[in-house]
Formats: sequence, C-alpha cells, structure tokens
Amino acid sequence: MSSDHKRREPGGEAAGSSSSTQQQQQHPAPQLSRYESQKRRDWNTFGQYLKNQRPPVAMSQCNYSHVLEFLRYLDQFGKTKVHAQGCGYFGHPDPAGPCTCPLRQAWGSLDALIGRLRAAYEENGGAPETNPFASGAIRVYLREVRDSQAKARGIPYKKKKKKRITNPLKASTEEAASTTFHLPSS
Ligand SMILES: [Zn+2]
Repeated sequence: MSSDHKRREPGGEAAGSSSSTQQQQQHPAPQLSRYESQKRRDWNTFGQYLKNQRPPVAMSQCNYSHVLEFLRYLDQFGKTKVHAQGCGYFGHPDPAGPCTCPLRQAWGSLDALIGRLRAAYEENGGAPETNPFASGAIRVYLREVRDSQAKARGIPYKKKKKKRITNPLKASTEEAASTTFHLPSS
C-alpha cells in the first residue's frame, strides 16, 4: 500500500544526507525453537561444506552424491564407537574396554540431520522434485548405516516401537536431535 518510508534515489544518497540514525538492526530475530535453530545451523554447515569443495559446489548443483560425501565426512567428528567384525566387542551393546575401532556418527544423528536438511532445502527455495536429501540413495545409505551399527553394537532395531519397552534407539535419537555438527574453521 504505502511506498517506501525512505525515498531511495537511484543515483545514490548524497554524502550529507540528514537522515538521523540508521534503523537497520532494531528488530532482533525472533526466538527460534531448538529444532529451528538446529536446522538453521545444519543448513549453514552444509552450505559451508559445499563452498569448501574444490571447486566449490553451488547449492543448485548439489545432488545426492554430495550429500553422501557430506555424511561420510561427518563421521570423523562422530562419537559413536562402531566395532568392526574382527573386534572382540563386536555385537556387544555396551562394551567396557577400549579398542581401536573408529568413531562414527550415530545412525540416529544422521537420520535426524537429513530430516532437518530436507526441510531446510525446500524452505530455502529448493524444489521438492530436486531435493537431494529426499533421494532414495540417501535412504538406502541410512538404512545400511542403521543395520551395520545395529549389528556392531548388538542393538536390535525394530520397526515397531512399543512404548512400554525402553527403547535404546529412541534415546539415542533424541540425543541425536540435539547433536551439533561443526565444521573446523579453516
Ligand atoms: Zn571395537
């Protein structure tokens, strides 16, 4: 309805413009929910990851293979011990001793992360048809991670959850939802 409060002149403002204070940062961002702020951080992290590629990858060129590489890349920051088949703790849910098996991102963390990124992609203007986070390849990868971690740690992953039973998967998923992914600052 109303035109701009400030008249903008195409030629640029004169140096001696007498407008008093700039009113740019008067409105602080509204308080975001934990999920929303986590989603925003994840989105920024992924964007930064694409920029760090050689050569950098534009979001519009991003496809599921970049997402898969991103998920594998995140494993180096993981905190979940996933035992190899040759390890004596393979299949033990809560092994007491140390071993040399690698730390990985827990399946629940990756699954929650992909969910947030999938939503963020579309909220940032991406088309659902081209959403790389919704790709079948990602689903297959996550399922493989889930199954291999279930075997390595001796945790049975059941499709149906019963509320009465304390489900270790559920706990780890909730924990996972609050996991923050950081890129090392270069
Ligand atoms: Zn091990």
